[in-house]
Amino acid sequence: MSHRGRHLAAALTAIVFGLLAACGAPAQPEANGREPVVVTFSVLGDLVRNVGGDYVTVTVLAGGGVDSHTFSPSAADGAALAGAHLVFENGLGFEPWLDDLYRASGSHAALTVVTEGLPLITANWPTARGAGGDQSGLQSYDPHVWHSAANAITMTQKIRDALVLADPANAAAYAANAEAYSARLQALDDWIMAQASALPAERRKLVTTHDTLAYFAQRYGFEVVGTVLPATTEGASPSAQDFAALVEAVRAAGVPAVFAENASGDRLLNQIAAEAGVEVVATLCTDALGLPGSGAETYIDMMRSNLTTITTALGDESR
Ligand SMILES: [Zn+2]
Repeated sequence: MSHRGRHLAAALTAIVFGLLAACGAPAQPEANGREPVVVTFSVLGDLVRNVGGDYVTVTVLAGGGVDSHTFSPSAADGAALAGAHLVFENGLGFEPWLDDLYRASGSHAALTVVTEGLPLITANWPTARGAGGDQSGLQSYDPHVWHSAANAITMTQKIRDALVLADPANAAAYAANAEAYSARLQALDDWIMAQASALPAERRKLVTTHDTLAYFAQRYGFEVVGTVLPATTEGASPSAQDFAALVEAVRAAGVPAVFAENASGDRLLNQIAAEAGVEVVATLCTDALGLPGSGAETYIDMMRSNLTTITTALGDESR
């Protein structure tokens, strides 16, 4: 190639790359060949890691101990979205910050809403967004589906399907991982069921900071007596009337203990417990995995830890 020809080639290359950049170049696989995947919160991140195994690099936005309802994404989170092939979200209003972040990042990643197709519970969703706020249909379902291990199995299948679609070369590995993990989730579900039914039915009563355990209660035979906040922690605060009604409900139900959560403040719960004369038990990991050392760093460990905390507190005959 002549000197002039090389210049022309370089100029064309620059133009082509310029056009690609202008149109938003598709994200490339990482140098190690793994699929770049972004997951909105820690619990779902663990499910995706279990299915994706060595073929994905998972970036979790709202990490362990972080409340997704009130999460504030950073510029690094936007950059992670821009570089992702796949994004997994819970949906149902659990990530109120995601749509804006996705748009702003210029991401072309395929979005998978893992709760699609699950049997949903209508939410005790608040007026937290205020009059004239977003009261759309999406906000009327409870997003906390993962507290049923049966739902986690369905979510695992959705994760597998999305990974297979994006990366068919590794389909067999994703299928094998999903099958092995689903078997562990089934064992978890059976174990929780057995432990819960060993607790007398009249003791299976839950009070938590926010309304996060409806799917758990429905699946494992508990009653949610009341919660300080509705199905989000976002800007919500109970009225004096609601507060008094909850104190009365706690007294009337005769629950020995109420449960603090890892990603929600416990000031109001402590007040309720003090007024009702019951104990506050720490800590359930509800909307986020536990921090390192908590014993709840994975989904399965989180569920086991929660169940043990609940049955120990409610099963204690001395309370
Ligand atoms: Zn929540």
